[in-house]
Amino acid sequence: MKQDSHDLFSPASPARSVPVLVPMPAATPYSYSLPDGMVAPPGSVVQVPLGPRKVVGVVWDGGENAVDARKLRPVEKIFDCPPLDPSMRRFIDWVASYTLSPPGLVARMALRAPAAFDPEPMVEGLRFCGHEPDKLTPARRKVLEMAADGLSWTKSGLAHAAGVSTSVIDGMVKQGVFEQVFLPPPPLVAPPDPDYAPHRLAGRQMDAAEIAVDAVKARDFSVALIDGVTGSGKTEVYFEAIAECLRQGRQALILLPEIALTTAFLDRFHERFGAKPAEWHSDLATRTREKVWRQAATGEIRVVAGARSALFLPFENLGLIIVDEEHDPAFKQEDRVFYNARDMAVVRGRLAKVPVVLVSATPSVESQVNSQQGRYTRIHLPTRFADAAMPDLHLIDMRRHPPERGGFLSPVLLRAVGKTIERQQQALLFLNRRGYAPLTLCRVCGHRFQCPQCSSWLVEHRFRGQIQCHQCGYAEPTPQACPECGTLDHLVACGPGVERIAEEVERHFPDARTLVLSSDLGGVKRLRLELEAVARGEADIVIGTQLVAKGHNFPLMTLVGIVDADVGLANGDPRAAERTFQLLSQVTGRAGRTGLKSHGLLQTYQPQHPVMQAIVSGDADAFYEREIVEREKAILPPFGRLVSIIVSADSRAEAETHARQLRQAAPQASGISILGPAEAPLAMIRGRHRFRLLVHGRRGSDMQGFVRAMLDNGPKERRSIQVQVDVDPQSF
Ligand code: ADP
Ligand code: ZN
Repeated sequence: MKQDSHDLFSPASPARSVPVLVPMPAATPYSYSLPDGMVAPPGSVVQVPLGPRKVVGVVWDGGENAVDARKLRPVEKIFDCPPLDPSMRRFIDWVASYTLSPPGLVARMALRAPAAFDPEPMVEGLRFCGHEPDKLTPARRKVLEMAADGLSWTKSGLAHAAGVSTSVIDGMVKQGVFEQVFLPPPPLVAPPDPDYAPHRLAGRQMDAAEIAVDAVKARDFSVALIDGVTGSGKTEVYFEAIAECLRQGRQALILLPEIALTTAFLDRFHERFGAKPAEWHSDLATRTREKVWRQAATGEIRVVAGARSALFLPFENLGLIIVDEEHDPAFKQEDRVFYNARDMAVVRGRLAKVPVVLVSATPSVESQVNSQQGRYTRIHLPTRFADAAMPDLHLIDMRRHPPERGGFLSPVLLRAVGKTIERQQQALLFLNRRGYAPLTLCRVCGHRFQCPQCSSWLVEHRFRGQIQCHQCGYAEPTPQACPECGTLDHLVACGPGVERIAEEVERHFPDARTLVLSSDLGGVKRLRLELEAVARGEADIVIGTQLVAKGHNFPLMTLVGIVDADVGLANGDPRAAERTFQLLSQVTGRAGRTGLKSHGLLQTYQPQHPVMQAIVSGDADAFYEREIVEREKAILPPFGRLVSIIVSADSRAEAETHARQLRQAAPQASGISILGPAEAPLAMIRGRHRFRLLVHGRRGSDMQGFVRAMLDNGPKERRSIQVQVDVDPQSF
């Protein structure tokens, strides 16, 4: 031992260097020297200088570097936090190479909790010294009774538990009854108890749970897909898998698409396990995020329910990953590192050797195919729990039941709303369009209000008196006069948004309590409160965007009206049918979850469309079968592979030229071809012109190798040009 430390500090010891992954878009780790005596195994979280800054990085694998370590800048500090384990490091490498992103940017996602790397400060506490105070008042006796267990207390905790004021305790400290000690900070959340309040599972649920529990028992990688209609008890089933994971003393991660809004989920978890899971999403206070990061790393936190980025938390002992609503587009990050958390969850599971459970009422076509081909175990729940009826779904053919002039709601739908609120039940009108109207134009000259920096229309938000761009956030007060011809008061709103539907509803039902739920009408806190109010029955008619679609349980909601079921079908995207099917199933699934007879009415101009037919017939299998056949024919994902490359620049010509040169730099590869460059679906965003190349390959093609070669051989990167690579794009 002595010998070792002597060697370490000996001036003769050679200078050593380590590779450190810094949170920068660099292709490889940078080398830093290690000061004598500093030990920094791979995974250590360190502070290093980078230019004029100090950054947090991770010591990477690869060992000593050939560079003369004496010329390097030194690692300044090793943080006192658990190192990122090898499977986490392989995960970061894997995500980087799959998404064609610099590993440092992926590592940055794993290190997004700046102050978490130093231990939390100890808190001041009290310990009973074993002797009584001089004068034993009743208040002091109560304190002694509480403190008799020999544990340490915080002052306020003890005062609260004994029901006395803190001054009583101050007096006892003065007399030496308690001594001041320092205690580790309390855990953020209490540990969940796997046996707190389990439900008795119904027959099919039992079989389903057994498969999921066995997967956890195997302590190895596997993927299961729980595919069951809304209300079939999927959540109950995966709670059993979580319980098993907790019994093993391991940690579980639940990924949810809209965790910030789903307080109902947290409450339900609490009822089942006697404690809440830790939350992880971007609306958390920084201090809380840091605590979650650290306590996930130390293992104190047992269950995290989080948005996609929770996948990059450094769990100490992960035993299970759940991806609920696995089909949801919100799992795709389209910023810097473009990744789909559902797919990367499967990768993380494989590298960490833990089971992954995907859950959805309307699985992605990808997951359907994987389960059909036997790569995923299918756990099927075809009926609602306790045989609660699914809502009765009907199409309203808008060609035969047109709304009155200037309106958007057919008389059939309005009658149904009226009946529902007469019964003191709730109606939901769903329209996935924020604001008042998607387009405003001048009736005199035809001028359309367009964003000055994007190729998109300005959307009128009447509640706020503005017209806004949904791409870049640009907003201006709603003008009175047309900027083109100057005519006053001749601007017309075209098409409906939720605010406009609310206006129509209020005209027909002036006495009803109407509520608009839309993400632009309040922060997360306000939306949470409003969703809870709806669940308590404190609104009669709710008009909402897709934020009402996810995971909520509204016991009195017995009518769901889809204002425009065709919205998503128009854009020519081959995934449009799948998305529309999923969204409509999910929204209509909000109805009747507690056994009340319920209805769904879908307004459509295309009642014969396969999506509409699939929804009303409830025949999801037929829909998927058709969809899968078509994808296979066209060699679209998952039967083929796509990478989208978007080149943007301030000038249109520069963007187009760069994209063309990129295309010319592509290698020859059989089975891979390139479409474009063509103007991207949004040709301009924030003043930058965008051109797109779409790389298409047969299954099994080395898409990453191909694109990497293209980028390496392609035109030199210039500051003015930005190239975004999106492997497995959402829309294509
Ligand atoms: P899903 O996740 O498939 O939408 P849930 O797990 O939310 O379905 O179940 C639907 C409803 O049925 C919930 O209110 C849930 O509490 C209830 N439920 C499901 N399974 C059981 C069970 N075994 N015992 C009691 N209630 C159950
Ligand atoms: Zn804009």
